[in-house]
Amino acid sequence: MLLTRKQQFQALFPDMQKFRLKQIDEAVFHAGWTGWNDVSNLSLPMREQAIKEIPWMSVKEVFTFESKHKDTFKAVLEVEGSKRIETVLMRNAREQWTVCVSSQIGCAMRCTFCATGTMGLTRNLTSDEIVDQVRFWNSFLTKRPDLAQRISNVVFMGMGEPLANYDSVRETLQLLLKHTDIGPTRITVSTVGLIPMLEKLLIDPEWPPVRLAVSLHSADSETRKTIMPSSYDGFLDKLAEWAERYFEKFDSKRRHITFEYVMLANVNDTPMHAKALASFAERVGKVRINLIPYNFTGSEYFNSEGDKADEFLEYLKSRNVDATKRRTMGDDIAAACGQLVVEGNT
Ligand code: SAH
Repeated sequence: MLLTRKQQFQALFPDMQKFRLKQIDEAVFHAGWTGWNDVSNLSLPMREQAIKEIPWMSVKEVFTFESKHKDTFKAVLEVEGSKRIETVLMRNAREQWTVCVSSQIGCAMRCTFCATGTMGLTRNLTSDEIVDQVRFWNSFLTKRPDLAQRISNVVFMGMGEPLANYDSVRETLQLLLKHTDIGPTRITVSTVGLIPMLEKLLIDPEWPPVRLAVSLHSADSETRKTIMPSSYDGFLDKLAEWAERYFEKFDSKRRHITFEYVMLANVNDTPMHAKALASFAERVGKVRINLIPYNFTGSEYFNSEGDKADEFLEYLKSRNVDATKRRTMGDDIAAACGQLVVEGNT
């Protein structure tokens, strides 16, 4: 078990009072502080021991890539055990930045179109390792005065299945909400649709009201099972039933669930699939469909051609389904959805 910073402090100073732990959380988010030495509210001996034994940052930069339009950056970071993860910084429509974080090293879900899926799962990331991806980009931006400075959104769409690392993801959400000015509607957790975990968050008083995106990719059960081995007969019914309770709990007119839908030529983009998707969206109610162009990952798939993708979108709109097409960013630096894979991690 890897310890978080707070747990390391507790192990080192067993008599430490609770409010000190809060100070530690606050300290690492403090703009301008770059190490334990700056944390003036800790005693000098505590600071000195922390400097020796507790890393200020749990991730170390290996490389950072910059897209030609300077609107997407990808960093390869090293975490404990010499393992590598990736995180992406993207300019958003508000001319601010969205950070895409990884929640696991690799992924066990093995979606057939996703590069991360080919890695298998090495381990979960700790909440520090997830939070520190955001802190990494914050400090990156301070060194780049040529770029906008504000990180306004965080999406859990990097490597890994966030709900398979529930406790650390929940802790990360709490830390971000408490110590940054990023609000819950600017944070999106994207999941393959782990029903037991989706059920859990509904009855969990500590789960914050962040946005959820479900990687649907097909509303036809057979197709979904073929492209997503984590799917099974009855999944779509379970998801629809869950969504009903989700809307009851998070009762807000503006609240919706996003369905992500990667457009795979002749696999999930036929008129039959469009019909199934529109009907499923109608059944679930407040959904927004995000059509994602397939980013090449070396798998057997191809992106749907322009016309076909447009027809698909038009059909959804004609059925009054709220659907948009996501623009691809960062494909020149392999930072686009599904392209995050780190070689040499075993
Ligand atoms: N495990 C989470 C996060 C995955 S990444 C999840 O399944 O939601 C975020 C999105 O990118 C998911 O919807 C995922 O299915 C999608 N994606 C994966 N591979 C892709 C590819 N090659 N092209 C486009 N999108 C892809």
